[in-house]
Amino acid sequence: MVSRVIPVETFDLVIFGATGDLARRKILPGLYRRYLAGQVPPDSRIIGAARSAMDKAGFQALVREAIEEFVAADKRDPAAIADFTDRLDYVAIDAKGQEGWPALAAMMRQGAVRAFYFSVAPSLFGDLAERLHLHGIADVDSRIVVEKPFGRDLATARALNDTLATHFAEHQIYRIDHYLGKETVQNLMAVRFANILFEPLWNSQFIDHVQITVAETVGVEGRGAYYDKSGAMRDMVQNHMMQLLCLIAMEPPFHFDPDTVRDEKLKVIRALQPVPAEDIVRGQYLATAGAPGYLADAENPDSRTESYIALKVHVANWRWKGTPFYLRTGKKLRARASEIAITFKEPPHSIFDDASGWRENVLVIRLQPNEGMNLKVMIKEPGPGGMRLTQVPLDMSFTEAFGDEGTDMPDAYERLIMDVIRGNQTLFMRGDEVEAAWAWTDPIIQGWEARGDRPKGYDAGSSGPEDALMLMHRDGRRWREIKA
Ligand code: NAP
Repeated sequence: MVSRVIPVETFDLVIFGATGDLARRKILPGLYRRYLAGQVPPDSRIIGAARSAMDKAGFQALVREAIEEFVAADKRDPAAIADFTDRLDYVAIDAKGQEGWPALAAMMRQGAVRAFYFSVAPSLFGDLAERLHLHGIADVDSRIVVEKPFGRDLATARALNDTLATHFAEHQIYRIDHYLGKETVQNLMAVRFANILFEPLWNSQFIDHVQITVAETVGVEGRGAYYDKSGAMRDMVQNHMMQLLCLIAMEPPFHFDPDTVRDEKLKVIRALQPVPAEDIVRGQYLATAGAPGYLADAENPDSRTESYIALKVHVANWRWKGTPFYLRTGKKLRARASEIAITFKEPPHSIFDDASGWRENVLVIRLQPNEGMNLKVMIKEPGPGGMRLTQVPLDMSFTEAFGDEGTDMPDAYERLIMDVIRGNQTLFMRGDEVEAAWAWTDPIIQGWEARGDRPKGYDAGSSGPEDALMLMHRDGRRWREIKA
């Protein structure tokens, strides 16, 4: 199966923060891969902007190095790299100053889509937005792309939305959540709404519970002081996991267009119930032989910030009444694995005398590693020996199903940047969605702060704190094993 590559319109993309980590690791290599795939029109341009003094040749060299480092060897074609870097330019600009802006204004062309990627600290978003207007660089069709974190609570998110709204209309603002750019996440919508099979069962009558896991093996070493101001709830649950939950729980939109989809997601967020203290478990990874624990990594011996969190969440509406969503995410866990598991209920009556092999049907949507889906179904154990039941996975690995096309899927950032150029906001968070997510998150955080709760220690390389196991055990359920 050959995937279709539809070129986008000619664009001028300005990357503020072009010398930074995100630009070097994700944005610029991603743009090169899209160029290689034939999606970038030849006369499009990418303009790097940051304070560092550098000329065009210097920036081209930086991007060549980033491609060498972050693009797979079989995609590093010298002629294509030379062609791609020909499209680059650079302007030294201080978001807070006035220099460089007239030069940038002079670089912009009429007729090309103008997009501005704010890959800088959120404290600079307002300065950039203001100067883009002051210098007449942004037009009514221009788009801005803003990175996470989008605020640290409702008040700061609102302030950020207000600042951006002073200069840009909502349809021009693309708030990135790279989870939404993942192939499997979009497939979740296709599976739900392009098939008749699942939707009739997609409710509390047939679904026992949902588990969403985002497990990482790395700790916060190197960026501990920064992370310590945030924690797993702010860094992962409020944004990424919330978006996954929305796509599972939302009602079918009447049409697949940005605002209709986002309207349905917003309704889910607004239907989330407050989470009582007993349904929250927070943890911090402990030191192991040779590796420091969270407190040392965070450089804060008294830190109460969580590197792990598990929550039981209820969506208070007709569809989901009585079906809990268990969310967990953490650092330094057993394996790097992200998945959504939908566990169905028991059949109402068993006709088999020996049902000892019976297990629940589970639909597992794997985000990483090895993106794909897997539906666990019961069958008869093959061979003689009577009617014995066993569970087998109906497995769809994208890599296997689509061969090279499966391994060669665009990275989330690549896909999302192309969506920005196309002007499609479906996979971006709307301002009211972000605010609603914070409105749910804030009282949870305020609750544990007011109680003075301390996160529980857990062993590095484990599945998280013991108490998190109990969160499910007491409901007669168990977490799925965290494995790569
Ligand atoms: P970074 O490595 O610190 O890079 C920051 C960039 O901003 C540099 O290019 C820096 O270049 C530029 N910059 C700083 N102050 C500036 C100013 N006053 N005017 C113009 N440019 C300025 O940060 P990053 O990791 O790339 O992160 C960028 C954004 O993405 C942040 O909002 C971050 O939260 C978000 N993000 C990053 C990641 C990631 O994996 N790195 C993941 C998710 C979200 P000069 O010093 O030359 O000006």
